[in-house]
Amino acid sequence: MSLPAEFSWFLPVLAAPFIGSFIGLVAHRLPHAEPIVFDRSVCTSCHKTLSARDLVPLISWLATRGRCRHCDAPVSARYPLTELAALIVAIWAVSVLSGIWSILIGCLLGWALLTLTLVDLREKMLPDAITLPLIAIGLAAALILEPLDPLAHLIGAILGLTLFLAVGATFRRIKGYDGLGGGDAKLFAAAGAWVGWAGLPSVLLIASVTALAVVLVIMVVGRRNISQEEIAFGPYLCFGFWIVWLYGPLVII
Ligand SMILES: [Zn+2]
Repeated sequence: MSLPAEFSWFLPVLAAPFIGSFIGLVAHRLPHAEPIVFDRSVCTSCHKTLSARDLVPLISWLATRGRCRHCDAPVSARYPLTELAALIVAIWAVSVLSGIWSILIGCLLGWALLTLTLVDLREKMLPDAITLPLIAIGLAAALILEPLDPLAHLIGAILGLTLFLAVGATFRRIKGYDGLGGGDAKLFAAAGAWVGWAGLPSVLLIASVTALAVVLVIMVVGRRNISQEEIAFGPYLCFGFWIVWLYGPLVII
């Protein structure tokens, strides 16, 4: 990289909204095995071809106040929100991490977790096409960022997978249905690959506490009960994974 070290934040932050557009597309297409090509170039309402200025992330949506320039049909806020989320991930990563490699790898992880979160919220599944490469990339990232202790990450991946498969099998035996999917197990294995085995309890604790807090808020504010099947655990696992990778395991004093 010829960029001076002080500017290592610049590239990921600038690229983030564009990557957010791509994430929105992947999250929409991947679960349906549709080809991932960039075709947001036609208005879904009037079918007019959109020009480059309609496709600038965030700005074009804000400039047209969320409406098509030709037919005034509302454009889903999902697009700019995903672009904004990708930008927040990049700003979060550059504010915590230092060094270009750390920042790039961190952004890559954050964007992958954002994609998984969106897919799980909408489709209640975590695609292998993201979780499995994330395990391999986590092990490779550990070699680059922490070359002294690669074994901790390998053990983490194996432990994460077996632990979650065991919990899932027990749940199925007791309840008679799948509470934790195989996708959760692969995501937890990826977490182990990235944070090492010692970080896994923290990932699980943060994920569980956050999930519980969200469920309580929905029950109190929304005044309704939530059935077990409604809850996708993936987004909370992603959150715990992200926090522990950025800040390290929780420290018990
Ligand atoms: Zn239109």
